[in-house]
Amino acid sequence: MKVVPTGAVFYAVCNIKSENCKAKEGGAVTTVLLADSYEQVNTCKVCLNQKLRSGEWNVEGSRVSNMREVLDLAVVDPQGRVLVAVEIKINSSRHKKREKHILEQMSSKSSLRDVQYFIFATPDLILVCERNSDDPHANLHKLVRLSPKLSDPNFENLRQGETSSPLMKSKRHMLLERSFSKYFKTNAFTNELPNNIKNIFDSNEIVMEYVVKNT
Ligand SMILES: [Zn+2]
Repeated sequence: MKVVPTGAVFYAVCNIKSENCKAKEGGAVTTVLLADSYEQVNTCKVCLNQKLRSGEWNVEGSRVSNMREVLDLAVVDPQGRVLVAVEIKINSSRHKKREKHILEQMSSKSSLRDVQYFIFATPDLILVCERNSDDPHANLHKLVRLSPKLSDPNFENLRQGETSSPLMKSKRHMLLERSFSKYFKTNAFTNELPNNIKNIFDSNEIVMEYVVKNT
């Protein structure tokens, strides 16, 4: 499960209380947000590290290791191969004119060399790109640039005030992943796509936080 650490350290009782817990009856803890339930959990460092080592929790900051890549969203075939890799950002203006470049950086990763389609999505923009050829170093070209229909019910949970705290930004990013994973299945979206990629969306699954194994 993905968790988001808030970074704040304070004195409290650890909620995990594993065997070697350092704050069973009080001590230095930090709060993490659980991605599934948005529940906040106070944990000491020992318990946090144990959860991370066991793989029960994973932290966004550790997403890029040399062994694997985690995609915000991926369209995946029944064999688990990535057909479309999606990068989601909560703020479009910070990435203006760099959207395609960000996707090209993604597409140059060896674990994604067989992926044909890449999408950059924000609340204002959906940029769909395709790999130019089989050459892994080839650039991408833009297929279509769309605006998400924010009136779609799947975006309902985004209508919460803007915020600047890191915790709320992470939460917003998770909500946005969730919204797009549903929106990408709607006709409102797929009808605007060129046929090749429309068929991919129509007949395959969309997965959040997809771990790509480096082969
Ligand atoms: Zn603990």
